[in-house]
Amino acid sequence: MTENVLRVDSVTAGYDDAIVLRDVSLGVGPGSVVALLGPNGAGKTTLLNVVTGVLQPSSGRVVLGGEDVTKRAIAQRAKRGLCHIPEGHGVFPSLTVKENILLAGPRGKESESFDKAVEAFPVLGERRSQIAGSLSGGQQQMLAVVRAYIQSPKLVLIDEVSMGLAPVIVDQIFEFIEQIAAQGTSLLLVEQYVSRVLAIASHVYVLNRGEIAFSGTPQEASSSQVFDTYLSAAS
Ligand code: ATP
Repeated sequence: MTENVLRVDSVTAGYDDAIVLRDVSLGVGPGSVVALLGPNGAGKTTLLNVVTGVLQPSSGRVVLGGEDVTKRAIAQRAKRGLCHIPEGHGVFPSLTVKENILLAGPRGKESESFDKAVEAFPVLGERRSQIAGSLSGGQQQMLAVVRAYIQSPKLVLIDEVSMGLAPVIVDQIFEFIEQIAAQGTSLLLVEQYVSRVLAIASHVYVLNRGEIAFSGTPQEASSSQVFDTYLSAAS
């Protein structure tokens, strides 16, 4: 069996006295797009924080590429190929587009990184000298995704990439996400735009009140019972 790029094993976690995640387990395979869905407040962002190392679980394990990283710091997980695009915070707003790209890519390969970024989203080349904070929301998300891409990560966690964007822009970003996955990078997407993410995901987890309420294929997730119970408000 192929080793999962990410395994979350029986994680329980929360803030102070409040338990937010209870006995949560999930896996992300190589080159796959996995959707993490569920109602507001279900604990999706909290789970991403446990994977990145921002939040330490009270029990359970986070395993990256077969290695238990539960006690490892954020930077050590990043070195192992983990990349996180937090909701609304994927770029440095006061730096230019080009500076954002060059800071993300490997040292010594600046022009290669810039070319890769512009090839992915040509509009970023046209706007290379613009301050990132003055880009449209869609262009900022393109920049955030590209910043992750040029780091050649093994796993990218993306929180609500489609938030507030026009459907045509979401389509462009999701097409690019599919391309990255086809090149072997795995992605775990937290999404509100359920119908669009179901179209590109190979596996779906639904988190509800801190527990995995559903795990299955996008087709199964679209079945009326799962959809109506957990996803219809978010679609
Ligand atoms: P949303 O879609 O609304 O972002 P979510 O599924 O990502 O929801 P979380 O943001 O993980 O859910 O929040 C889960 C619960 O944890 C909520 O009750 C929230 O109020 C609480 N919570 C989140 N962050 C903190 C924090 N830093 N301190 C205390 N409680 C928090």
